[in-house]
Amino acid sequence: GVKVGVLALQGDVAEHIAAFREALAERPGSSVAAVRRAEDLTDLDALAIPGGESTTISRLIEKNGLYEPLAEFGGGVFATCAGMVLVSDRVDDPRIRPLSRIPMHVARNAFGRQVDSREAMLEVAGLAEPFRAIFIRAPVATDVGPDVEVLARITEGIVAVRSGRHMAFAFHPELGGDLRLHRMFLEGIGV
Ligand code: GLN
Repeated sequence: GVKVGVLALQGDVAEHIAAFREALAERPGSSVAAVRRAEDLTDLDALAIPGGESTTISRLIEKNGLYEPLAEFGGGVFATCAGMVLVSDRVDDPRIRPLSRIPMHVARNAFGRQVDSREAMLEVAGLAEPFRAIFIRAPVATDVGPDVEVLARITEGIVAVRSGRHMAFAFHPELGGDLRLHRMFLEGIGV
């Protein structure tokens, strides 16, 4: 079975748990559980870092002694929206201490106040059909390191990346019921 954890400090934790449970429904012995303490990371194959408020999640990571355990976590990381901000190595907001899991610069709230949320049919590398992407006060990556694969971009910037076993999305694949990106991620970590 596959063991997935969802960082459960703030944000859309329940949606991530539900999406991974569904993606793993046909894999006997799999589990999806909330992560609040360093001990919860033991034996996990993968960790989801949810959308929410990245400054709040960053503060709670420090408060719960999770910075080093998350920066050194050995499994694959699946990060969405605020999670994409947190896994980067450079952020345009000094209140956030990025976990440096994916070498990229991320700009928060990159869509501007007038159009802060929207949906788009997005071409994603590796998917045969477009993905209905839900953006909610989304960040974008403005530049990525040489080993980072850009999976999707829009006018504002890069919105989906893969780096080794890690993936990050500016939108919310955990919402909307399309689990193709979850499956691509699980394939990428070899489980
Ligand atoms: N704007 C939020 C942040 O940067 C992210 C929004 C989201 O996760 N839906 O923290």
